[in-house]
Amino acid sequence: MQIEESSFQSDLRILFVEKFMCSVNGFDGNLVAEVSEQIKELLEADCVAIYLYDSFNNNFKLASDLENHQTNITQNILVNIETQVIYTSANKFTILDGSEVVKRTSKISTYLLPLHDGDNLIGYVFVAIDNEKIAGQLYEKFEGIAMETYKLLNGVGEYSNTMDKANKYELLYRVTTKFHSSINTNDVLSEVIHTLSNVYPRFKYSLYLSQDYKNEPESDLPIKELIYNEEFVNKSSVQAFLTGEVKVETDVFGVKSRLFAPLKGKQGVYGVLQISAPMAHLFPESDVEFITLLANTAGNALENAHLYQQSKQLIADLKLINETSHKLNSNLRLSETTTFMNKQIRESFGADEIGFLLFKEDSHDLLEGSTNYFLGDEAGILLQTIIPILKNHQDSLFIGSFPKKYPNVNIPYQSVMAIPMIQSQQVKGALIVLHSLPYFYSFETFKLIQSLVHHSTLAFVNSMLREQLEQLVITDYLTKLYSRKYLDEKLNEHLEVDSQGAFLLIDIDDFKRINDTFGHDAGDELLIQVANIIVSKLGKNDFAARWGGEELAVYLPEVSLNEGMDLALQLVNQVEEKTKPKITISIGVSYWNSNQPNEKHQIFERADEALYKAKNQGKNCVVREKTKPL
Ligand code: GH3
Ligand code: MG
Ligand code: MG
Repeated sequence: MQIEESSFQSDLRILFVEKFMCSVNGFDGNLVAEVSEQIKELLEADCVAIYLYDSFNNNFKLASDLENHQTNITQNILVNIETQVIYTSANKFTILDGSEVVKRTSKISTYLLPLHDGDNLIGYVFVAIDNEKIAGQLYEKFEGIAMETYKLLNGVGEYSNTMDKANKYELLYRVTTKFHSSINTNDVLSEVIHTLSNVYPRFKYSLYLSQDYKNEPESDLPIKELIYNEEFVNKSSVQAFLTGEVKVETDVFGVKSRLFAPLKGKQGVYGVLQISAPMAHLFPESDVEFITLLANTAGNALENAHLYQQSKQLIADLKLINETSHKLNSNLRLSETTTFMNKQIRESFGADEIGFLLFKEDSHDLLEGSTNYFLGDEAGILLQTIIPILKNHQDSLFIGSFPKKYPNVNIPYQSVMAIPMIQSQQVKGALIVLHSLPYFYSFETFKLIQSLVHHSTLAFVNSMLREQLEQLVITDYLTKLYSRKYLDEKLNEHLEVDSQGAFLLIDIDDFKRINDTFGHDAGDELLIQVANIIVSKLGKNDFAARWGGEELAVYLPEVSLNEGMDLALQLVNQVEEKTKPKITISIGVSYWNSNQPNEKHQIFERADEALYKAKNQGKNCVVREKTKPL
């Protein structure tokens, strides 16, 4: 008995070793079919089939193509094995020790011979034999068949695994080489997805990347945004990102499994690769190892690309700051400064609206170079919300979703940056940048704009002070009209380019008496009242100055003598009507036009003469120069 069994087993072994030697392709369905055929011949069986454990699907699969071998009856049983043995082996089939009789149908006996690898069941050999052929020694042969089949398949399997591993590592090596020659983040990510899709075509892939990552418009990468706020912190994708470890997740119905591999470099995690398997799937250890290695390689490549892009960006940023500082320090006027900054911000970062504000005690000025949006009511509400914050905290605002943070302030912009201009610990003004898209600006952009404002604040304040000083020099301190010197200059310019013009010289009547009656301060106050009445009547191009003492002058460019007289009469009436205490004025009017160029000379003297006449005529009246016909 023993001898027979041994010789059977050794025959089998010799046959199998031959198979092994010939299986140049490693483990495949052909080899299994041949082995099945061999066993079938040796046992004179009707059908032999081999089932092997499929780690991807966690069940047993028919490992060879049996089309030519099976009868209808065995076909049914085979189906049964696949659908039921795997999960409920005991119900349908009677399992015996070692070799197992499985089921008897009318004539055919079927057997399942388990293939064990230590404690692990790696598969079954299914045998179907016509009942009448069964001999007692069949059971004894089963053990040998099971053992030799296991040895062969295991040997070939290990060989295949080694080959498989070698292939994967070769792939990894090729991918790594490619990665190292790439400084483009998109190329690296595409290569990862491409490689994985080749190795595991049945899986689906997604990439979770943080918002800093800017996808190229034409890219078809399956990118999802990685949101890692409190709400999402328990998600496996976020966990993989935060811990840098691979996470596996099966959904509640056991229908899908997902694996999350962090794209990890030396300095941090750059994203998470999600692999979705269609069925409840156990990712075999060797595959997890391969995926992890690939993800880590990609992480390193992304880090390199990121560092390269960062250094390029840094150089561009420095250039921008340098250029801006240089330009601003070249004594620009305030409006030139803001217009230049506006251009820089638009070109470098993109913006829907840009506002330059100068803060006063309780209000603010909007500087030229700002967009018109800031003049509207809607912007008024926005400014009311953010200016106090800027003033009180002397700190910037960087908001990705404004409506979320301030649901009561209704503006069509989501991204809001507001950066105070601080000089000598005082908030002098602010730059406000708006964009309609949420989270449009990266933190790096915000820092850079902050730096730009920081560098330009001094230039802003200097331009501002200089312009204030200039204004001071040309303005009369009491009436806030222009100074006489400025009027002289402006008038000379106008006499060169205008075709005509009227000049009004205004003197307050009996001002000495007013001063004596009401006091000098009240006299000052009345001078201001008169000046304000004059300003209120002036057109856009007209200008008024304090000529000296209680005398004021007005020049009306491109205005006829009649129009000049008209305005003068209006002024005389208004002053009489509106001043408190009531005072009156007298006005002398002179006129010139380019047909009689000599008339532009002594335009003051002629007005002065007319004024003298007005005084003589009893005051509170207008007199035009005597040489001019009406
Ligand atoms: P008339 O109607 O002839 O112009 O009489 P008048 O008193 O206005 O003329 P007069 O030239 O005699 O006196 C001008 C006065 O205006 C003298 C001066 O006290 C007053 N005055 C000039 N400048 C100022 C000023 O800045 N503030 C005040 N309160 N008074 C001024
Ligand atoms: Mg006078
Ligand atoms: Mg006077």
